[in-house]
Amino acid sequence: MSIAIVRDPIGVTCRGLVYIYRLDGYDVVALSGVDLDVAPGESLALVGPSGSGKSTLMGLMAGLLRPSAGRLSVGPHDLAKAGPMELQRMRANDVGVVLQGASRNLLPYLGAEDNIRFAQREVPREYRTDMPAARELLDLVGLTGSGVASSLPKRLSPGERQRLAVAVGAASGAGLLLADEPTSQLDTHARDEVLAALEAVHATGRTVIVVTHDPEVGERMHRTVTIRDGRVGAEGRRGEDYLIVGRDGSVHLPQELLELHPPGTLMRAEAEPDGTIRLIPTIGTGSET
Ligand code: ADP
Ligand code: MG
Repeated sequence: MSIAIVRDPIGVTCRGLVYIYRLDGYDVVALSGVDLDVAPGESLALVGPSGSGKSTLMGLMAGLLRPSAGRLSVGPHDLAKAGPMELQRMRANDVGVVLQGASRNLLPYLGAEDNIRFAQREVPREYRTDMPAARELLDLVGLTGSGVASSLPKRLSPGERQRLAVAVGAASGAGLLLADEPTSQLDTHARDEVLAALEAVHATGRTVIVVTHDPEVGERMHRTVTIRDGRVGAEGRRGEDYLIVGRDGSVHLPQELLELHPPGTLMRAEAEPDGTIRLIPTIGTGSET
């Protein structure tokens, strides 16, 4: 079954995006200059170690956090400049969010279909004619069993609950769906069903961005972007990994090379005539020289 969405898929652009958590007495720099383009209609996985800034980046794209510096645009919205009204409009119409932990996205006292309808109440009247019916959304994420439509979230299995959270995230018909660790703590079977639900949402013509630390989830998306230490560390396309030269000229080594050449290693970089660069480590590490 297919649901045509009337609104266009939404792209994202980050330029030198910085986010700082300001705590009592000290700051945590969670993102320190992210450059990233996500084309409308793309599916992308944000991968990388815990604490690298993935959820922060997703929170910024969702309009839940405000950039500390740099540029961020989500579709037509410039989030460095957007006021509260524009942010609210963006969250209602243009961006669907599946927060980490299915139950955070669901109201415990409403059945599955009513959870979707509740999410749709946020959408302004002029957009409501574009919205898929609650039952269609349940079908889209594969929640077709008898009685599911009226089931309370606690009566669903963990995988079903997560798929319901995806349906709720997609309920407004927004052109961008963001999902933070949607498959964590699920067994393989339930994970595959959640992935199928995300792929079904993507197939309706939406941009889908998933935060995950499961490499198999990453492989199912068009592209993976590794976030490391608050910046884009590497990109993968069709199974190949690429390094990215950052705006300050830095390059993050992939984990297996980092184990070979730990932080502090001194290297000489030599360019060959064809542009190939050779990195030649000095004997020992920087701390020993
Ligand atoms: P990830 O999702 O990749 O695990 P996060 O975006 O959650 O990473 O965190 C990035 C960094 O920001 C980490 O150093 C984390 O400790 C810090 N951080 C995240 N949320 C908060 C918060 N609410 N207050 C302070 N620091 C935070
Ligand atoms: Mg996270």
